[in-house]
Amino acid sequence: MAKRDYYEALGVSRNASADEIKKAYRKLARKYHPDANPGDKEAEAKFKEIAEAYAVLQDPDKKAAYDRYGHAAFDQQQGFGGGGFDFGGFGDMGGLGDIFDMFFGGGGRTRRGPEKGSDLRMEMEISFEEAAFGVERDIKIPRTESCTTCGGSGAAPGTKPKTCGTCGGTGQVQFAQNTPFGRIVQSRTCDKCRGAGKIIDKPCQTCHGSGQVRRSRSIHVKIPAGVDNGSRLRLAGEGEGGVRGGPPGDLYVYLRVRPHKLFRRDGNDVICEIPITFTQAALGDEFYVDTLDGKEKIKVPEGTQTGTVFRLRGKGIPNLNGYGRGDQHVRVKVVTPTKLTEKQKDLLREFSLLGGKNVYGTEKGFFEKMKDAFMG
Ligand SMILES: [Zn+2]
Ligand SMILES: [Zn+2]
Repeated sequence: MAKRDYYEALGVSRNASADEIKKAYRKLARKYHPDANPGDKEAEAKFKEIAEAYAVLQDPDKKAAYDRYGHAAFDQQQGFGGGGFDFGGFGDMGGLGDIFDMFFGGGGRTRRGPEKGSDLRMEMEISFEEAAFGVERDIKIPRTESCTTCGGSGAAPGTKPKTCGTCGGTGQVQFAQNTPFGRIVQSRTCDKCRGAGKIIDKPCQTCHGSGQVRRSRSIHVKIPAGVDNGSRLRLAGEGEGGVRGGPPGDLYVYLRVRPHKLFRRDGNDVICEIPITFTQAALGDEFYVDTLDGKEKIKVPEGTQTGTVFRLRGKGIPNLNGYGRGDQHVRVKVVTPTKLTEKQKDLLREFSLLGGKNVYGTEKGFFEKMKDAFMG
């Protein structure tokens, strides 16, 4: 299911202020709230959609990530995967837990253990040659990392988060309710620890108890020889930091290869077209052509036709797996001269008188072919 743009879901423009976003959200939330639309699945879906959109757009960090990477910014994130949105994941979105507490009395959240950090994705543009031979780059990415001061626990150094006394560390408390159908025991998120199961008495000064810090990190990326447009590199463990001691996510770098002025790529072969004069084509010639490794000599034999392809072995793109290289195909295009001097024209007229009027060579002329066709 294609996900709707968050701004579109809230019906605001991309430049909407925080206040406008909030107002738009409140209005829609009232309209589509499940209490106002009992049993209406469509309204419920809509409500989830706008809640998800607001959860992201009301948070400056998440909004920035969304503006930059779109939905991909939250791919793989718990509860935000492509498979849709589930209420259990709301607690991870910061402020959203509160919204749900407001509507649903805090139900639905479960105790949360260590979680793998989100994967990040970014695009990188490289040149044709860099794709062919590989390149190393330093890139800067903003990401959330596990706080080093407290080791991600959120508790000040020397202290430890305590097990919550109210819920006994489960993050849930049971409560009984008398209904016409009898006494029903339900559970809801513990108010004291907000579902974490742990209480931090002295929060870490660096991360203010969250266990995570936002950091712009420089990462060295090695792009191997032979990558192509759309190739994806995975940098394991370079994504967002894990939550509550979980492992970090991965960073995916998508490569975009700039087109080359001369070369085109076909698999591991490099294709180029070289214009030659009709005298070079008729009389043959030797000249140099550009390759990825500099100039290379090619020999065009006497009587070369336009469109003939010459192959330069091993002058193509190296195989991504490290063995061998493609070839370069040089296609010659015979160019008819347009600005001739009188002297050149005279010589061509003379050439023409010497039999140059017929299409000759290995192939039969057009008129001869016609004749063959009619005479059998
Ligand atoms: Zn608790
Ligand atoms: Zn900390």
